[in-house]
Amino acid sequence: MELDENVHFVSRCPFCSAEYDLDGAKVIGEQEDATVVYVTCSKCESSIVAMVAMTGLGIVSLGLVTDMTAEDTKRFFGGEEVTSDELLSIYQLLKEDQNTIRALTAKQ
Ligand SMILES: [Zn+2]
Repeated sequence: MELDENVHFVSRCPFCSAEYDLDGAKVIGEQEDATVVYVTCSKCESSIVAMVAMTGLGIVSLGLVTDMTAEDTKRFFGGEEVTSDELLSIYQLLKEDQNTIRALTAKQ
């Protein structure tokens, strides 16, 4: 998906209303029809993570205010999924250690 000036996604800073300079937008991740970009306001330096998705209805965008850095965001989105093997070993661990389960499920 091409990110250009024709894509009018979250185009203004929610804090100071300055128009975003998309040249400074960093593409964090892309997945089929969705792109996650990280934009920092050149005026007030607050950052948002925006998800731009191509749907049957057109382009939909969603912006989230964040205090993560672009690197943090990348790590977050690039994180590997938990595999079923890992889930199983956690299950085994919990099964062997009833105290952990009790601690996790204890009513406060
Ligand atoms: Zn701003």
